Amino acid sequence: MTFVTTALVLHSQSLAEKDVRLRVLSPDKGLFEVVAKGGKKSKRRFVNILEPFSFLRIHVRPGRVLHLPPFLDQADLLEPFETLRVSFSHYLKASYFSELTESLFRPHTGQEAFRPLLQAFYLLAEERSPPWPLFKLHFELQMLTKSGFMPRLRECVRCGKRVSGPERFFAIAEGGVVCQNCFREGDFPFPPPVHAFLGHLLQVPAEKLNRLRPAAENLKQAGRIMENFLLFVIDREINSLRILKEML
Ligand SMILES: [Zn+2]
Repeated sequence: MTFVTTALVLHSQSLAEKDVRLRVLSPDKGLFEVVAKGGKKSKRRFVNILEPFSFLRIHVRPGRVLHLPPFLDQADLLEPFETLRVSFSHYLKASYFSELTESLFRPHTGQEAFRPLLQAFYLLAEERSPPWPLFKLHFELQMLTKSGFMPRLRECVRCGKRVSGPERFFAIAEGGVVCQNCFREGDFPFPPPVHAFLGHLLQVPAEKLNRLRPAAENLKQAGRIMENFLLFVIDREINSLRILKEML
């Protein structure tokens, strides 16, 4: 069945001959691949729109062979997000958001990730996007929540009791907070202000991120813990993140 949907292009790859394969995220179909036959050459149908981060309305036709990606019949540009490709730093950040989304969701899932990703692209394209460490952490928390991987932050992952008191820790492999009694070697220190900051950040909508002024140390520690946790969950390297770290 042919269908029409909106979609963000996460990845665009030229194939042999003149075709282009896209990995896209759609709000009703989730993550999937689609092939634009003659996409490299057909300027009239696809002029400069099969680019990473483009926001499109697409017309998709099933492939002739089962299990092969469907074909892209038509694509209308809703928002080019050109600034995300012009600046290398923006490109890497948008790539990180895309790669992270692809890593956390399987094909034909991830519908709920569409809105946060689109919003992150809009924010990144704006002149006044939030400071990167805060923006990155906020996006990671949203994607962890949407994908069901969000760590437990209330009860100790080892004894199940509500965690309070000044000594708290975070266990990467078990995915959550650990109380003083259950501490083991290798757990990250998770001081109450860092714990409280993460809890608060989960409640803040992306468009209000610019108003936050977190203490630098809280942001740094929370960012480090969440990044370690994410890399543990997805169990592979994220290229754009590695390059970003070398650059920033
Ligand atoms: Zn405990």
